[in-house]
Amino acid sequence: MNPPVALTIAGSDSGGGAGIQADLKTFAALRVFGTSAITALTAQNTLGVRGVHAAPASFVIAQIAAVLDDLPVASVKTGMLATAATVEAVSALAAQGRLPNLVVDPVMVSSSGDRLLEPAAENAYRHGLFPHAAVVTPNLRETEVLLGSSIRDRDDQHAAARALGDLGAGAAVVKGGHPAGNEPGTAVDVVWDGKETYELRAPWVDTPNTHGTGCSFAAATAAYLAHGEDLRTALASAKDYVTKAIAGGARWHLGAGHGPLDH
Ligand code: PLP
Repeated sequence: MNPPVALTIAGSDSGGGAGIQADLKTFAALRVFGTSAITALTAQNTLGVRGVHAAPASFVIAQIAAVLDDLPVASVKTGMLATAATVEAVSALAAQGRLPNLVVDPVMVSSSGDRLLEPAAENAYRHGLFPHAAVVTPNLRETEVLLGSSIRDRDDQHAAARALGDLGAGAAVVKGGHPAGNEPGTAVDVVWDGKETYELRAPWVDTPNTHGTGCSFAAATAAYLAHGEDLRTALASAKDYVTKAIAGGARWHLGAGHGPLDH
């Protein structure tokens, strides 16, 4: 029997920890056939991003169209889209209903603190792409930028998840990741499922090796959706997958910075 097919629209991380590379490893680990449209090349390692070379939006769309015209794509994940033009072009395809089970990870900044998105693209996310997403998965910092408000505690995190839903996404996950409002020892993400908010909890893994965590969570969600799971189950399974991948690579020493996960 054929495996389900998923598509990632994201940037390449030459260091292999995040972006397209993390997405394809996640798809393979979860027995999904991965296809990809590369939005940008990054010259990058575990220490940081040395350069970004974005593809023209028209060529990102050419890649997506080539995949969609031939392969039975069951779910789509977006990561680093790099430019406002690409966010707008991908939004237009989504508006035509061509991107099923769309998981939008609005990547803005790398784990090393380097910008991966033109500031002008933020509005295109809010008003162009979010209304077509099955789920959006920003981290705390991205959520603050998108909503223009700060998140100080868990109540704020719940309110922010609802506010993201108000932008039109079917569901939203505000990933707690590190500190702000997180209880010690627990990594808490807050989900707005269109009706209510609830929390995804996992033991906190103390390690610098978290590069690609956000990419892998969104890719795992897309993979489980491609397998036909409902969104609630897919998100819980994705959280579990990422927690295990972080734990697996926690003691690795690959590079001197934020190392990768064990897929
Ligand atoms: N996409 C690319 C190409 C990246 O280089 C990065 C981070 O460096 C990300 C996405 C986001 O990574 P993370 O999953 O660590 O948030």
